[in-house]
Amino acid sequence: MKIAVVSEQASGERRVAATPETARKFIALGAEVAVEAGAGAGAAIADSDYAAAGAALGDRAATLAGAEIVLAVQPPAADSLVGVAPGAWVVAIMAPFGDGRGRVEAYAAAGYEALAMDLMPRITRAQSMDVLSSQSNLAGYKAVIDAAAEYGRAFPMMMTAAGTVSAARVFVMGVGVAGLQAIATARRLGAQVSATDVRSATKEQILSLGAKPVFVEAVAGIEGEGSGGYAGEMSPEYQKAQAELVSAHIAKQDIVITTALIPGRAAPRLVSDAQLATMRPGSVLVDLAVEQGGNVEGAVAGEIVERHGVRIIGHRNTASRLAADSAALYSRNLYNFLSTFWDKEQGRPVLDAEIGDAVRLTRGGAVVNARLLS
Ligand code: NAD
Repeated sequence: MKIAVVSEQASGERRVAATPETARKFIALGAEVAVEAGAGAGAAIADSDYAAAGAALGDRAATLAGAEIVLAVQPPAADSLVGVAPGAWVVAIMAPFGDGRGRVEAYAAAGYEALAMDLMPRITRAQSMDVLSSQSNLAGYKAVIDAAAEYGRAFPMMMTAAGTVSAARVFVMGVGVAGLQAIATARRLGAQVSATDVRSATKEQILSLGAKPVFVEAVAGIEGEGSGGYAGEMSPEYQKAQAELVSAHIAKQDIVITTALIPGRAAPRLVSDAQLATMRPGSVLVDLAVEQGGNVEGAVAGEIVERHGVRIIGHRNTASRLAADSAALYSRNLYNFLSTFWDKEQGRPVLDAEIGDAVRLTRGGAVVNARLLS
């Protein structure tokens, strides 16, 4: 069983899908690991570290030759996987909806079995394989650090001989994995933090981190909970009530971090241009949903833009901005996934139905995932 770790082709992608640690562990399971030379450079991992772990280093063709499993972060183009074994597994963050659909069809046509780590079910036994959590956690942290770097004032209150510097007011919108880490990070930096979500279950989590919950109470009968612990799309009444609540709150905030996503749909619009205009000049917004359509009106993917004196940070791929850590956690997620299902007799992983059916996009030349067929 040969596992190939390819270097990432997408611009700005600094992560890598295996570290020397996970390469060594795959080898201990009996696999052969080949790493494309330079694959770890963006995450500060030298080829020699992979070699010391027992991996073979080579060019892309040598790395892929005969591989039965290809590990990647971003989905590699099907036609860039020349020489892999027939029916090879391709494991990556597949983003298979919308624009990603064509790529999935291409994997099917090539006969590959594409496995989408981003479709891992949110169940207890899959927590250690959950790449969305590991990457969102780091993105939530980095969003606050990015905001602090752009903000021309301090986060903590400081009482000095020359006078008092007041604490920054930070508002986190969307309290999933990234939002919780953003709250914790902003609190550690000494900010006064408030947060909102549509799922009422997050209220207690916000309080437990020492932040203030800001919730729509006026619209009865709405829990905001869709399936699998994710948010659903909200009714027009709720959206109106939320907009009014946000308008009243946001004018008093210095930093806003937005993380709200709805699986399979465009990100909900949470901050309008008119609301931005009420903020104090010098305020900073970070839109972590910018690549899914954006929570903030005027946010531009890959740019920092200024509107009404307020800066909107729209970095793409925030997790990759902490590549050494995000690659290490991503690689462990992949190892946990493949090793959990490792069949010693066959010398390869054999997935069970619950997780296999959730993550498998293609098999035997066809698209097989229920979420893509419905
Ligand atoms: P996500 O990235 O899909 O969304 C981020 C947050 O935005 C969510 O909290 C969502 O409720 C919120 N949101 C959506 N629309 C909104 C709106 N209009 N206004 C305000 N907020 C809005 O979420 P996530 O980080 O993937 O977490 C989703 C859930 O899954 C959480 O309950 C989390 O605890 C749970 N989870 C479970 C596991 C597991 O058991 N394996 C692992 C990770 C996360």
